Amino acid sequence: MKFGTKAIHAGLEPDSATGAIMTPIYQTSTYVQDGIGNHKGYEYSRTGNPTRNALEANLAGIENGKYGACFGSGLAAIDCVIKMLNPGDEVISTNDLYGGSYRIFKTIFEKYGIKFHFVDMLDTQNIANAVNANTKLIWVETPTNPMMNIIDIKAVSVIAKSVGAMLGVDNTFATPYLQNPLDLGADIVMHSVTKYLGGHSDVVMGALICNDDQIADEMYRIQNSSGAVTAPMDSFLVLRGIKTLHVRIQRHCENGEKIARWLNSHPKVDTVYWPGFESHTNHEVAKLQMRGFGGMISFTLKGNHIEDAKQIVKSTHLFALAESLGGVESLIGHPATMTHASIPKEEREKSGVVDSLIRLSVGIEDVDDLIADLEKAMG
Ligand SMILES: *Cc1c(COP(=O)(O)O)cnc(C)c1O
Repeated sequence: MKFGTKAIHAGLEPDSATGAIMTPIYQTSTYVQDGIGNHKGYEYSRTGNPTRNALEANLAGIENGKYGACFGSGLAAIDCVIKMLNPGDEVISTNDLYGGSYRIFKTIFEKYGIKFHFVDMLDTQNIANAVNANTKLIWVETPTNPMMNIIDIKAVSVIAKSVGAMLGVDNTFATPYLQNPLDLGADIVMHSVTKYLGGHSDVVMGALICNDDQIADEMYRIQNSSGAVTAPMDSFLVLRGIKTLHVRIQRHCENGEKIARWLNSHPKVDTVYWPGFESHTNHEVAKLQMRGFGGMISFTLKGNHIEDAKQIVKSTHLFALAESLGGVESLIGHPATMTHASIPKEEREKSGVVDSLIRLSVGIEDVDDLIADLEKAMG
């Protein structure tokens, strides 16, 4: 089955009780049993709920995995992955990481005796140099936020396998439509479903997808034991969102390309970060592991003045000033004062987050209107 068909059909059957073509919202916490131990596969909704399970099967289908699990947020999904580890285990992660992932690693799990190393994964040799007998997880995010760096998943998976470590990939930015890490050697894929999979900025949710039976056992045991599960209503909304994922991402990619090229020729713009450009550092890797380059773009201004950037982000009308990304509507943000404000200036500038850096989540509106909006705001 091809992607668009899977998005609409994978894991989904008409409702067995009524024939409803859309998976009903099973808004129930418990299920009546015919006798002790004699039930219809459901006992309690933390453990299993038909609406959530349908979404989990659908997510597994579109990510080319066997098993899916949904969580209350992307970070709750990451929380589950780290809980598979033991005290003394070590994790190697990219240094250009989503801030919330960095925070949960450092402020929650370090005190339980898990050690985190952050390396520049653009050069995979840095990972090979950092692994040791205690390395149990390598954590990759690609493309990264907000610099759009591309990390070679296949090359990292070779290193992970050589030391028997699990490879986890945060696939939030690419989505399963553009990139399938399990096919590239990853053991577990994570999504902030909040972003493109939900796609309508109305749900906070996370997901994990894997193929390995043992990893799946652990994943479901922790999902049920820690209990950070998703609600039936939210599961329904995301099932509805995924039905148009392929159509939305196609438009995100088209609009993204047009805006990246327009910005590139704008006299006030210094550098545009978008993996579709041949000049992008890892464009060749992006071409190999992705089927398109998405609608996330960052750019800097000539002169690198913070006031110029602040003026632009507050002057757009269609591009709303907000955190988050991946919805049908376009967003604009200023990482230095928003998502990356807590990182010291010197630190953030090392990874490219300079004062004039602006990040766009290009939506699926008419691209001519989006360009006109930016043109006016940039003066
Ligand atoms: C938003 C995001 C997360 C965290 O997901 P939540 O749903 O906000 O908990 C993790 N990784 C990336 C790349 C994200 O963009």
